[in-house]
Amino acid sequence: MEKTLVILKPSCVQRALIGEVISRFEKKGLRLAGMKMIQLTDAVLNEHYAHLKDKPFFQRIKNSMRVCPVIVQCWEGIDAAKVVRSLIGITDGRGAAAGTIRGDFSMSAQENIVHASDSAESAGIELTRFFAKDEIFDYKLSTLAHLCASEEI
Ligand code: ADP
Repeated sequence: MEKTLVILKPSCVQRALIGEVISRFEKKGLRLAGMKMIQLTDAVLNEHYAHLKDKPFFQRIKNSMRVCPVIVQCWEGIDAAKVVRSLIGITDGRGAAAGTIRGDFSMSAQENIVHASDSAESAGIELTRFFAKDEIFDYKLSTLAHLCASEEI
């Protein structure tokens, strides 16, 4: 099944929203396959946000991501990357739909609580960036039969 990367950003950690955000992914029916707290470095952020290197806010977003440790997570489910992106909402928290994580908890394009891979392809690259193979766990959810039809898996 598909796996995707989520980062609970310093804005999530500082505002005590860790449990709330994790709860949304759990309640949706995604399986938590890996999770750890790490301090991001400038080097890993240069890689992770390489697509933003020419933006005026590049240094600002890197500084913001290093304010305190973050929590990196691997979530698994059918179409996990797409499902997680729909749960988090669009980049700018002020414009994000109510009911999404950013729409409910963010007033900012920068301090927007979570990062999530934008596709299954990016997820593959990003999970390798933040997790060693033995930090991803392949246990079965006993509730799987109640989450979807076996034909959907
Ligand atoms: P997303 O996180 O939704 O995939 P991007 O990859 O475009 O969005 O941007 C990465 C991160 O950079 C955003 O989550 C946000 O924290 C920051 N960012 C994006 N656009 C802006 C902006 N206009 N001003 C400040 N920060 C921004």
